[in-house]
Amino acid sequence: MKKSSTDIIIIGAGISGLAAGCYAQMNGYHTQIFEMHNLPGGLCTAWKRNGYVFDGCIHYLFGSGKGQPFYSMWEELGAVQGRQFVHHDELMRVSQAGGKTLIVYSNPDKLESHLKQLSPRDSKLITNFCQGIRELTRFDLSLLQQKPKALMTIADWWALGRQILPFSGILAKWGRISAEDFAKRFQDPFLRKAIPQMFAWKDIPMMVGMSLLAYMHNKNAGFPIGASLEFARAIEKRYLGLGGKIYYDSQVERILVREDKAIGVRLYNNKEYCSSRIISACDGRSTLFNLLRGEYVTEEMEMLYDGYFPVHSQLQVSLGVNRYLSQEPHWVTYLLNQPVVIAGEECREISVKHYCFDSSLAPPGKSVLIIMLRTSYDYWQRIYGRKIYDAEQIQESSILIDLLEEFYPGIKADIEYIDVATPMSYERYTGNWQGSSCGWLLTKEIMGMMISGLPKTLPDLDCFYMIGQWVEPGGSVPVVAMSGRNIIQQICHEDSKVFQVNKQ
Ligand SMILES: Cc1cc2nc3c(=O)[nH]c(=O)nc-3n(C[C@H](O)[C@H](O)[C@H](O)COP(=O)(O)OP(=O)(O)OC[C@H]3O[C@@H](n4cnc5c(N)ncnc54)[C@H](O)[C@@H]3O)c2cc1C
Repeated sequence: MKKSSTDIIIIGAGISGLAAGCYAQMNGYHTQIFEMHNLPGGLCTAWKRNGYVFDGCIHYLFGSGKGQPFYSMWEELGAVQGRQFVHHDELMRVSQAGGKTLIVYSNPDKLESHLKQLSPRDSKLITNFCQGIRELTRFDLSLLQQKPKALMTIADWWALGRQILPFSGILAKWGRISAEDFAKRFQDPFLRKAIPQMFAWKDIPMMVGMSLLAYMHNKNAGFPIGASLEFARAIEKRYLGLGGKIYYDSQVERILVREDKAIGVRLYNNKEYCSSRIISACDGRSTLFNLLRGEYVTEEMEMLYDGYFPVHSQLQVSLGVNRYLSQEPHWVTYLLNQPVVIAGEECREISVKHYCFDSSLAPPGKSVLIIMLRTSYDYWQRIYGRKIYDAEQIQESSILIDLLEEFYPGIKADIEYIDVATPMSYERYTGNWQGSSCGWLLTKEIMGMMISGLPKTLPDLDCFYMIGQWVEPGGSVPVVAMSGRNIIQQICHEDSKVFQVNKQ
């Protein structure tokens, strides 16, 4: 096939691939996206069952507030125009069954007085923590992603350093401590148990959780009405409007290479497509070890994929419930008095969300209820494809539903539909290694990598680029969209073009 120097093939129509496609089209490139699924969005998705829409992604979207960090990027991508967002006043509640409740208010003043009521003796710690959130309301996280790292000059790093300097103390102080570590400083026994859960996972660096509260307080971390798939579809529409082409049900089997230069892709149906550049916006491990047959892996990558850093595999049980739960808090993590064993692991809490704040997701008078928990990939992988896999899904969801009865009496009788997504489901539908929901799980050990990012090119392979959650540790929808934006900025630079953006 003929190729032109402006042709780009993108593998994957997740948010990073769609964003790269949009920016490439804005800059005069001709792109084609090959996507193995029949939908856009990748992990940024939702699924419809029996009149219910089960969201599988966005709890909070950075950039949902007009004029705030990341918003203008979403405008460029056509994702926010005409879209409504729900901005919650509280991230979640953490409740001891039959006991106390921690309400994780996004307003630092409210949070401070609530925490002090719960534990006056931890006042000093609480004051420091809430002061940190106040300071982070002024911190622009998008600064860290604004320019491709590969293009940053000493002057750029200097300028970035100057912008970050006022926050350096707070970033250093809270970036190196996890929620679990922080909890150990409390004297109050309830807060020692509740604090590790207050941002949904205990390894989260405090700085990340505090930034989330700060962004929620600024009304810049909302839930998009219509849910995650509609959000992704808006970007797909923008991409198609810019003249891009997407081929669905088109799984790439191999990246074609000649003389250490990526020259095209071959699909599973054996069709080959040539191009001047290839951008992989899909799973990092399969890109390196399958699509490129492990021939260009660097030592650093080898070490990462050897299991050096953790990934986040999760179990999601989605329920369609014939009961309107709008009076209940939208997200509660229940600390269990007695642990239960779920998928081979002792589970000491369950996290439950309802989505009544978005009436488009359930029929009138009914609700979507979602239970989420971290789970072991290996457990599900060992039984996948056998009868026991289905039986296990039923068994584990039954245990969880029985637990729900305790918190929402009579709920079992109101359940009309049950859907279970294991790490195998995420892997099957999105190709992500171990079904990871965010690439590398963001922990205090890899906070530095979140700022620097991982390399987007391979030293011995030309015309090839990687974007998305596997090269932007911690992932997230805005960061991977920025990843797509940055790679096109880099490609424009290589071609001595001025990077252009426009809005609809
Ligand atoms: C439950 C859950 C909750 C989340 N909550 C939030 C949140 O509240 N806020 C937030 O910002 N982020 C959240 N995230 C994280 C966020 O969704 C991801 O980090 C982000 O969507 C990843 O985008 P990506 O483009 O890098 O990768 P993906 O979404 O994985 O996209 C990769 C695409 O490539 C396709 N593909 C894979 N292999 C091939 C192949 N060989 N050929 C062709 N196509 C291929 C896949 O089908 C997929 O469409 C959440 C994720 C999950 C799962």
